[in-house]
Amino acid sequence: MNVARGPRAASPSISTPSAAQAPLEILDATVVYRAVRGDASDAALLEASVAFQSGRMTAIVGPNGAGKSTLLHAALGLVPMLRGEARFFGEPLSAVRRRVAFLPQRESIDWDFPITAVEVVRMGATSGLGWWMPAWLDGLRGAQEGRRARAALEAVGMHEFARRPIGELSGGQQQRVFLARALAQEADLLLLDEPFAGIDATSEAVLMAELQRIASAGGTVIAVHHDLEEVAARFDRAVLVDRTIRAEGPAAEVLASDATREVFGARAHRVG
Ligand code: ADP
Ligand code: MG
Repeated sequence: MNVARGPRAASPSISTPSAAQAPLEILDATVVYRAVRGDASDAALLEASVAFQSGRMTAIVGPNGAGKSTLLHAALGLVPMLRGEARFFGEPLSAVRRRVAFLPQRESIDWDFPITAVEVVRMGATSGLGWWMPAWLDGLRGAQEGRRARAALEAVGMHEFARRPIGELSGGQQQRVFLARALAQEADLLLLDEPFAGIDATSEAVLMAELQRIASAGGTVIAVHHDLEEVAARFDRAVLVDRTIRAEGPAAEVLASDATREVFGARAHRVG
């Protein structure tokens, strides 16, 4: 396990061969939402560096407001980094976008958007098809997409709800539809922000089983998760975030670490 003592002074190079193969490597990510002094002194994320491994389920843990979502958003270019960079499979995201799927935190999705479950999934399936396909192949394209979308919905047990508007599904069912979209996209890196928050037991079991299947097939699953017992039981690795990367390594070791006790203990004290 690596325990960070604080933000590093010197930056290592990102161009080593092993780094090039990491499905996601984040280096020195610094995010400031509101620059009061125009520097990094009130950074939500300060010099966060971490490399994720393929074929693994990695949990991102940390208290509320620790910067877990910010870490994912910064890597994906959804919020600007003051400093730092992210590499996906050794490349900038733009070069490998199709291989990467992101499931945002539930609160940030507009569930009233008038779209059915199968349409959500087809948005994932479409991005996998070649842009070069000539117009006369549109019919074939539609059939191919349709098949993939149906197979993905079936994999998460949601095929019966294909024509249901997304806003009329339960929270767990909505998460399953969004996972189906990632499956249809055939992404091999999944970033999920609290996918299990507030969902029913069946959906949680379906989601977990699918994620484990993806990881054991060589894919990479990175999920923000607040249930530390579930992380210990089901995840291979954990990354502890508290404004920077405080520790990362095998899940059991990270969770048993002094850093985890310190981060959660200190925060609980402040709140309580
Ligand atoms: P977590 O996901 O670990 O709960 P976040 O990454 O959402 O934490 O937030 C980290 C910090 O950044 C918090 O203090 C939060 O209030 C702040 N923050 C997050 N998003 C924004 C934003 N869009 N604008 C301003 N501050 C933000
Ligand atoms: Mg969050």
